[in-house]
Amino acid sequence: MKLQAVKGTSDILPEQQPDWQRVLHAAQQVLGGAGAGRLTTPIFEHAEVFEKSVGDSADLVVQKEMYTFEDRGERRLTLRPEFTAGVMRSFIQHGMHTRPTPVKLWSTGPIFRAENVQRGRYRQFHQLNYEMVGVDSALADAETIELLYRTLTVCGLTKHHIKLGSVGDPDDRRTYNDYLRTELTPLQDRLSPTSRERLRLNPMRVLDSKDEGDQQLIANLKRPLEMLSGAALEQFEQVQSYLSAWGVPFDIDPGIVRGLDYYRRTAFEVHYHGIGAQSALGGGGRYDGLLELLGGPNLPGVGWAIGIERVLDALEQEEPRVAAVEGPALFIVPLDDAAVAEGAALAQRLRAQGLRVEFAYQRRNPGKGLRDADRLGSRYAALRGDDERSRGVWQLKDLASGEQQELLAEDLGAALTQAPRAL
Ligand code: AMP
Repeated sequence: MKLQAVKGTSDILPEQQPDWQRVLHAAQQVLGGAGAGRLTTPIFEHAEVFEKSVGDSADLVVQKEMYTFEDRGERRLTLRPEFTAGVMRSFIQHGMHTRPTPVKLWSTGPIFRAENVQRGRYRQFHQLNYEMVGVDSALADAETIELLYRTLTVCGLTKHHIKLGSVGDPDDRRTYNDYLRTELTPLQDRLSPTSRERLRLNPMRVLDSKDEGDQQLIANLKRPLEMLSGAALEQFEQVQSYLSAWGVPFDIDPGIVRGLDYYRRTAFEVHYHGIGAQSALGGGGRYDGLLELLGGPNLPGVGWAIGIERVLDALEQEEPRVAAVEGPALFIVPLDDAAVAEGAALAQRLRAQGLRVEFAYQRRNPGKGLRDADRLGSRYAALRGDDERSRGVWQLKDLASGEQQELLAEDLGAALTQAPRAL
């Protein structure tokens, strides 16, 4: 039997790594630049960290997607299905509320959800996550959205756009959920099984349904935005004026829903056309009460997560990826046995100067050695046989121009660092 990766997981190949680096680099630059520190949390947590964060509404649809198992000590553990709950667990455990407010944290790593696999929807994928704890204001919300937008811009995207909504205050949610119950209960036999379950547990999440029949049934219903109370409406309008003033493009989307109880007021998503049905690159919102629910202080928070695979998919729409891996600066070709060890020693010296250098592990004839250098995408090749050894030099060949010169070993490093491609 041929071994295959688990369905819904994928390998990240060497040629894909530069794009991943881009995302990490953007996070470091944009989020780090706004005062966020990087937090690395464990991939598994006690199941209760995530179960508690789901709260009383017991959104079974979320719970079902978790990979929860018992380890050998009969502890119930869950592979993280999102970052926020684990980040808050860490915040509480390390007493981060004593740090200067607000506390801004970013994280990245694999996320696991037992989903139906399709384009853009996997069982192991990766997120970049950002949280800001301690400030509840329209300014904090708007800054958080601006950071999301700019992180994606620095990644290299130009066609992403923000969708902005608000889920209101707890009272607004109750009013809205009652309204949905009244409207949808008589029609529940026509809803999909998932939406019927959601109608019972957390009606607002019916709006999230991907089922076309469900969407038709809810098409003419009011959206949460139409039922905002005064304070939530005011915050929603202030967030918009900040974003407009800062030149962050956004559309208002009355249908944006965050299912869990602790979400409040500002909710947003970022989308990209051209990456299939799963066009959301990320989403987030304000969550007040989550820290308290997990046993911590009552501090407000706002944050977001983006799916890195989808960002990479979007990047490919922007500019086709260069297929080849960037080659070494130098490939060393030993023309006789003595030159093999000399070549390895030279490679080590040049690597210590920060250059990427590879070598042949056996003696080569010049034609084959140069072909190897070319296949690796190396700009230069250094060759040595008896003749070069007697003069203490290497033949340095520029594979692009065909030019050749003799150089002392100690001069090779300087010659390569001056060459444009070798840098
Ligand atoms: P969520 O935590 O569900 O708000 O998701 C945040 C982002 O993670 C989404 O906008 C997607 O970009 C990404 N994402 C969520 N679920 C998946 C999945 N199953 N596979 C790949 N990316 C995902």
